[in-house]
Amino acid sequence: MKRAVVLGAGGFIGSHLVERLKSEGYWVRGVDLVFPEYLTSSADEYLILDLRIALSVSQAIDDNFEEVYQLAADMGGAAYVFSGKHDADILYNSALINLNVAKICAENKVGKLFYSSSACMYPEYNQLDPLNPKCAEDSAYPAQPDSEYGWEKLFSERLYLSFQKNYGLVCKIARFHNIYGPKGAWNNGKEKAPAAICRKVISSSNNGFIEIWGDGQQTRSFLYIDDCIDAIRLLMLHQEFHGPINIGSEEIISINELAVKTIAIAKKNIAIKNVAGPQGVRGRCSDNRLIKKELHWEPQVSLDLGLQKTYTWIEKQINNSL
Ligand code: NAD
Repeated sequence: MKRAVVLGAGGFIGSHLVERLKSEGYWVRGVDLVFPEYLTSSADEYLILDLRIALSVSQAIDDNFEEVYQLAADMGGAAYVFSGKHDADILYNSALINLNVAKICAENKVGKLFYSSSACMYPEYNQLDPLNPKCAEDSAYPAQPDSEYGWEKLFSERLYLSFQKNYGLVCKIARFHNIYGPKGAWNNGKEKAPAAICRKVISSSNNGFIEIWGDGQQTRSFLYIDDCIDAIRLLMLHQEFHGPINIGSEEIISINELAVKTIAIAKKNIAIKNVAGPQGVRGRCSDNRLIKKELHWEPQVSLDLGLQKTYTWIEKQINNSL
């Protein structure tokens, strides 16, 4: 039986990944500071550990693992990452985790390591035009991420690539572009745009309004969680290709348009009020040319369908909490 460890197994993507690995027959160890909030983990073993501490990482990762998935990070939505209020914590916490994980994976000669980087590492100067952002993998340098979160991701990509070069640690690196779906943060300050907008729309009365940060013309693309997990697995199973590679959708949409779509799902009459708030770059969209070529992958779930599923799940959470 193949053995995998998922670091960040209590988080949104990690908790979904554990379920997928279990359904594929893996023996799985989940590791996090917390248990998943919205599902009961199927991990065979679940360790509550702080991965900033090297000794804890040694407990999490031994020499028996074919696959290590490193998803643990100090992160959140725009309010958390782009406000500047958490920059020191983001850099310190996530860098410490990655420093420990890279070293201990190399020492234990684990089979392969997956690292979850982010589209936030792409340079801001290529993302000024909301209708024509450039996020091809080879556009990363000269580096100029617009957030400390992005700088840490870039640093850790380089860290893992250096461990690959100097110590033969096989590292698979993906740059996620806005992953969304059910069983993720929706009301704790770490939620991303789709969940936040669903919550606002569900909570708004008919003929009311919701607030959208910025002028709403900033663009993004959003990838449904099941598609993300498919792509992670394909990258991990590929013999030669290691990335870094974008894992995202090419369906670009402005944040106001995303709100309009969500309001249509609700079948309510709700106005959009654009207010000042953290927004990140003006435009961002995945460039999937490389992943199509190397992994023959493209997203299967449309934004319409994924948003509907996310909306339904958040509506249930809100109704249950009443
Ligand atoms: P998440 O916040 O839901 O999960 C991260 C998990 O890491 C949390 O459960 C948290 O408790 C855990 N963690 C943080 N510090 C820890 C520590 N010191 N020790 C042990 N565990 C710790 O985030 P997510 O959305 O599941 O994202 C997973 C990974 O993908 C992260 O590295 C994130 O930066 C990256 N990513 C996510 C997105 C996205 O849209 N969700 C986009 C780009 C990159």
